[in-house]
Amino acid sequence: MAQEVFWRTKSLTEMTDPEWESLCDGCALCCLQKVEDEDTQEIFYTTVVCHLLDCNNCRCTEYETRTQLVPNCVKLRPEDVKTFHWLPPTCAYRLIDEGKELPDWHPLMSGKENSVIDAGASVLHVYEVKDNEITEDQLIDYVLDE
Ligand code: SF4
Ligand code: SF4
Repeated sequence: MAQEVFWRTKSLTEMTDPEWESLCDGCALCCLQKVEDEDTQEIFYTTVVCHLLDCNNCRCTEYETRTQLVPNCVKLRPEDVKTFHWLPPTCAYRLIDEGKELPDWHPLMSGKENSVIDAGASVLHVYEVKDNEITEDQLIDYVLDE
């Protein structure tokens, strides 16, 4: 029988703050810049990552002030769960909201902080450039092939 752990027994809105924070796997895929189709509102990811990401350890260098420094950096909150469709398919918040299990490389499953990087599931295996290394017009050239 599966172990009774909080991410299997609680909904996102029932989690404590520490539980909510621990659900983030640290992949930083949400730190990739996105472009939106104006006609369909569909979101497309690019291989351009936010300039505030430390690409050595996959951490935000300004985590506490990130939303002031980067206007399109979104602070996820449980009450916004229904808008999570733009998150990457492997994002733990999206997986839990969709009633799915966490992958083996999630730190809560592996017990290892860096298992997301070791498994090649983080942004470090996706990004090509930082957003301050290109112009806004060039962003479209980096749209990720699905
Ligand atoms: S995509 Fe989800 S799990 Fe990954 S860093 Fe962003 S919020 Fe955390
Ligand atoms: S400010 Fe930090 S958390 Fe926000 S997108 Fe940039 S690197 Fe990611």
